[in-house]
Amino acid sequence: MSYLVFARKWRPQTFSDVIAQEHVTKTLCNAIESERIGHAYLFTGPRGVGKTTTARILAKALNCESGPTSDPCMECEACVRIAAGGHLDVLEIDGASNRGIDEIRDLREKARYAAAEGGYKIYIIDEVHMLTREAFNALLKILEEPPDKVIFIFATTEPRKVPATILSRCQRFDFRRIPSSVMGKYISDEAGKEGITIDSDALSLVCRASGGSMRDALSIMDQLVSFTGKQIAGESVSKLLGLVEADLLADISAAVLHSKGASALDLVEDALVRGYSIEELIDALVGFLRNLLLAASGAEKGITDLSDSEIVLIQQTVAGVSDVHVLNVLRLVGGASDQIRTGASPRISLEAALMTASKLGIAFGFENLPSVVEKVAVTAVKAGEIAETKVISPVAQIVEDDSDGKTGIEVGAVGVPDVSMTNIPPSVVSDLEEEEKVVKEIGSSEKEKENSYVRKVSGLFDMIPENR
Ligand SMILES: [Zn+2]
Repeated sequence: MSYLVFARKWRPQTFSDVIAQEHVTKTLCNAIESERIGHAYLFTGPRGVGKTTTARILAKALNCESGPTSDPCMECEACVRIAAGGHLDVLEIDGASNRGIDEIRDLREKARYAAAEGGYKIYIIDEVHMLTREAFNALLKILEEPPDKVIFIFATTEPRKVPATILSRCQRFDFRRIPSSVMGKYISDEAGKEGITIDSDALSLVCRASGGSMRDALSIMDQLVSFTGKQIAGESVSKLLGLVEADLLADISAAVLHSKGASALDLVEDALVRGYSIEELIDALVGFLRNLLLAASGAEKGITDLSDSEIVLIQQTVAGVSDVHVLNVLRLVGGASDQIRTGASPRISLEAALMTASKLGIAFGFENLPSVVEKVAVTAVKAGEIAETKVISPVAQIVEDDSDGKTGIEVGAVGVPDVSMTNIPPSVVSDLEEEEKVVKEIGSSEKEKENSYVRKVSGLFDMIPENR
């Protein structure tokens, strides 16, 4: 038996097999059942998400011997021949290599003749945006007076390059990227039928590397099976795709977030010795920091695509770190990535970025903020810029004072009763040792308060620039 790539072997054959495009398949099924069949369809969307596959299923639905039907039989000669790509009346044309006016004129001549096998004559034009202007004009003439029982299905990744005159004569369907969860389930089900096992780390890496394109995911699967056989683990996917391991990214991120710049540089050295390029490292690091930011800020949806072990790793790395701190590090490292990619000394740029980012923790990290904000607060109170400052809790808060509309700040220490700060000697308030002890006593249950505190304090710095 000849070898078939997964993208062909696992290709959906009916509307109900098509995944993640229900908004398209449902509408098409309804149109067929109510006999409202258009002359021209435009399928748009990223590559590898099912446009051509759906076009072939639509062709089967229209030309099936028991059709038109939303549920083609898959057994009659028409169904079998369309599935095999050998039906005389279903013509697939690649718009990229048949883009000239002569090809479209030829098509126009042939479209006049009735279907050889009595059903619909269906033209599937892939990458239709590649046609020349003259070719589009010739095509427009056919669409203006479409011959009976001739249907055009255009597929494109770039609908903006299709002239408005063509667009206005088509029923448009927008295909979407396939979500990782849906893609992962499909791949693991189909792989299971072939006796291939793929662990959750590997599955999540394949889905992410595909960027939502099933064709790309299945092509990676082909390579993996050739590379490792029928047992696929996360490690083999990382090796095949040259992905930087998540553990290494977590270690570098943790070093930067906890102000250990030297350790971060040692880890970079290790990574380069292991064969990763600077570009691979910076791309992976920015992606990892983004996940840390999502986790720190509680935006859980963005990381649900990751495998369970990766989510645990991310949560461990970001534990006790505020979202603002992660954001600042991400902005700095991400901002340096262009320079790292195009500059003359990418390694130096990377090291400088990591070193600078590791200093952010010292300058603006949560550890020092209570004492910093108090100094700011005391100065601000003295200058009459804020109304009143109170000591009530370990968390500083900016509060609106109803009486005069001025903004106040509440700062505090554990165990200190609710007292107006104006009654406390500044020496007590600015006792850094006491503050550090207080900060250490803040448990993880205070995480949310901590985050809102840091956000508010960041805003405060903007209010009082001379104290930065
Ligand atoms: Zn059939």
